[in-house]
Formats: sequence, structure tokens, C-alpha cells
Amino acid sequence: MKRDRTPAAAGFSRNPPLPGRGEVLIRSGHLLTMDPKLGDIAAGEIHIRDGEILAIGAGLSAAGARVIEARDTIALPGFVDTHIHLWNAFLRALFRDDPRFGYFPLTQRAGPLCDPEEAYRSVRLACAEALSVGITTLHDWAHNVRTPAHADAEMAALSDMGIRARFSYGWGTDFAPTRAIDVADVARVQRDWLPRAPLLSLGVALRTAVAMERGSVAIEVLREEIAGARRLGLPLTMHMRPGAVATLEKEGLLGPDFQLVHPVGFTAAEIAAIARSGAKVSTSPSSEVGSMQRTAGYVQFAELAQADVPIALSTDTTGSSCNADFFAVMRGVMTAHRLRPDTSMALPARRLLELATIEGARQLGLEAHTGSLTPGKRADLILLRSTDPNMAPVFDAARSVVISGSPANVHTVMVDGRILFAGGKLTAADADEIAREAAASARAIAAKVH
Ligand SMILES: [Zn+2]
Repeated sequence: MKRDRTPAAAGFSRNPPLPGRGEVLIRSGHLLTMDPKLGDIAAGEIHIRDGEILAIGAGLSAAGARVIEARDTIALPGFVDTHIHLWNAFLRALFRDDPRFGYFPLTQRAGPLCDPEEAYRSVRLACAEALSVGITTLHDWAHNVRTPAHADAEMAALSDMGIRARFSYGWGTDFAPTRAIDVADVARVQRDWLPRAPLLSLGVALRTAVAMERGSVAIEVLREEIAGARRLGLPLTMHMRPGAVATLEKEGLLGPDFQLVHPVGFTAAEIAAIARSGAKVSTSPSSEVGSMQRTAGYVQFAELAQADVPIALSTDTTGSSCNADFFAVMRGVMTAHRLRPDTSMALPARRLLELATIEGARQLGLEAHTGSLTPGKRADLILLRSTDPNMAPVFDAARSVVISGSPANVHTVMVDGRILFAGGKLTAADADEIAREAAASARAIAAKVH
């Protein structure tokens, strides 16, 4: 199959062409469609042609289709990771318990040393990991776009790996707070890349105008960046710190095109402002509970749910705080919620699975294409072995996935009708080569970071 490549991507791409889509019948799986009209089907089929889900039901057949036997597996939509910094995945070897080598100090020192080649290698590594744990859509929160070539490198890697993604074009770690994101280059990426990369979409990642570990951006610069992104019709995303929402609200900048990351430390007035604005929120329990934001308070899932603010899940960084295990992300949110003595709001396993799939798709504006197993949508799905020792026996499949599931149970991963992971391996990329290249880059950066 011929792969479309922009000229800018040609210098990076080194994967073999992605596998063909063809016609597939997934047979006799336990289907968690996450589509309220279809519900769960205890032994059902999914008929897929050219990446589109044609039909779902029990007892379907499809003459001539390739059959994937799904007995003893649970089929569900792939996970949607709504915020992850792919560019620093390869730096995971360099983090230490020494605070100088913690997440923010290290990435601030290493970021300026990363060339487009490092960006390409790290994004490929992160995508390889994401696919192997069942993430089929991710939001590449790119806050080290130092040059246009860095943007091309990340887009090329995403495109090469065959994953569905939003690339949110940010700043460079070496930018002064007065230097704006290159909005003209964002427009170039939109114009040159998107028509040729149907699985990729675009957004803009912003700095906060309040104090933050990476420094804050000048408010005039932020206004200009937001206006530029809105002129291009692109969604916005920003990390949250105390006062960030109040500032956006005061400046009249908050809107339904905003994704706010890290729901910790919001005031009641800020939560009301978020709800009024239609903005969405992404929670990354491994950072919020585990390390970076521990001092700012607890994850405000209950308050946001109470205010009907849309919430979805994310890993944040697989460099310092976690790996991309999305089962752990679901359980992290559950634990963070249950640890709170001041709420009795229920957060059942099935709701967590919705947050990990369909709510993630909605948060990225992709619900017409992915997030549930629904005829007419694209085939982004995973099969999990339900007979593995950590899963069996399974009565309530949704609960088993959330409570007992692990990346080790991932049997097959399909994105847009292409099988990208099967039999414990990536099918369309050389995982050993990806790891070797990432290690070589990590060694080179390690030699320069002190
Ligand atoms: Zn983040």
C-alpha cells in the first residue's frame, strides 16, 4: 500500500508502510460496545470493511472476510489518552530521585538539547508503548516545538505509527515568556499536513499566565496566541495551576474550545466558570496524586461531575511519573476519588470505562469517528484476553477490565481498521529498532545534561 507523505515527513519516516485494512469479521467476542443503543453483547461479531464498522451483533457472518477469532476475549473501543507529552518519553532513563533530575528541572534542561530527530524518536517510542497497551487515540501535547522541523518530526512519527491523534502545537522549552508560539507555522501544519493525514488533527498547547514550574507566559502573548488559534478554528489546551482559570475568566478567554488539564485546586467560582464556558477537563492521576501536584490538593472529580463538566483521562508523561498503562489510569482516578472522605458520589467501573473511551473521544471532538463500537464509526478497538490468570473468571466484563485488567491482557489492537498490535508485538513497526534509537538519543542527551 502506498503511503502519502508530505515532503517534510520524508526526511524522518522509516517505518514500513502501514498494513492494509481489508475486510475483517471479529467473531464471538464479549463486546463492550460503549454505545448505549447496543450495550454489551456476550458473544458477538464486529464486521469491518476498509476501516469502517459495518455491523455489530450476534450471529453475523461475512463471506470472504478475514476472521479474527475472539472467543475468550473482551472487545472494546481503544482507550483515548487525552493529554500526553510524547516528546519526553525517551528521557525516562534520565530522571532520578534527586530533585535536580525531577520532571520539570530535567525537561527544562534537556528540552533545548532535543533536535527534530529526538522528537521523531521519542514520539515513535511513545506511540509504540501506547499501541501496545491498547491506546488507539492520543492527544500529543507538544510543549517542545522549538522549530517547524520539530513539528514535522512529531507529525511524521504519529503518521508513521498509524495511531489516531491530535497534535497540539506548543512552544519550545527554550522560549522566553514573551516569545509567542509560531502561529504562522501552526497554519502551515494545518494546511500541509491535515489533508494528507486523515487520522491526525491539530490543536494549540498554551502556557499558563500564572506561576508554574516552567514559568508563566505574558498575558499579551497568551491573548495573541489564543486569537491566532481561534482564527484557525483550532482547539486549545492548557495545564492548570491555582488561579489559571480565574485569569482566563477575567480576560474573557475561556470557551468551549478549551481543554483544561489537572483538576486540582480549582475554587468553586472557577468550577462554575468552567461549567458556564463549556470547557472540558482532563485528569492525570499519576501526576496529580503521585507527585507533581500533591501539594495543591485533591483531584476534583466529584465537583466537576456535579457541575456536569466533561471529564476524560490521561497519562500526562510516561517519562517521570508513570508508564502508559491505561488500566492503572482508570484505577488511579478511582483511588483518588475514594480516598476523599468528603464525598459519597458513586464512581462505578463502567463510568471509568466510559471516561477512558467515549468521553475521551468527545473531549477531542472525535466522537463521530471513535470512542465506541458503533456501525458507521471507524474501527478503533482492542481485544483483551479474559482467560488470563489476572482476569479469569469474568462475569461482569466492564468491571473486570477496570479492576483486574492490565496491558499484559492486550491481545489485538486495531486502529482505523488496521491491526497494529497482535501476538504480543507491533505489526507495523520494529519495536527493537525504536528502542535502540531512543536509547542512543537518551545516552547522547544524558552526556550533556548535568
Ligand atoms: Zn502535562
